[in-house]
Amino acid sequence: MDTLFTKIINREIPAKIIYEDDQVLAFHDIAPQAPVHFLVVPKKPVRTLNDLTEDDKALAGHILFTAQRLALELGCEEGFRVVMNCNELGGQTVYHIHMHVLGQRQMHWPPG
Ligand code: AMP
Repeated sequence: MDTLFTKIINREIPAKIIYEDDQVLAFHDIAPQAPVHFLVVPKKPVRTLNDLTEDDKALAGHILFTAQRLALELGCEEGFRVVMNCNELGGQTVYHIHMHVLGQRQMHWPPG
């Protein structure tokens, strides 16, 4: 069955899309936790970070690089945070890996 994010990738569900290429889609989070909060999602539907394989190493790098480039384009040059939640204990709710990018407010540590 398609994940929620596959449906967004396939334009079956609307989203505020920021960027797309052959490997990833980036769009604004529907429930933003910061003035800038978007997700970078691979088109390949990997369930969790635990399911990444050696073959996905370039894809993982592309997700991170896309996050950095879009964060800078969206005005987060003073700082931002990236988060990837893994499985239930990690707080994951959508089982299609994605990188959160949050910016334009002060972040705190430790996270909740
Ligand atoms: P996680 O809890 O790490 O799996 O993150 C899932 C994220 O997806 C949450 O921050 C949600 O707010 C976000 N989300 C859920 N549905 C949508 C949607 N239709 N469009 C954009 N973001 C969504």
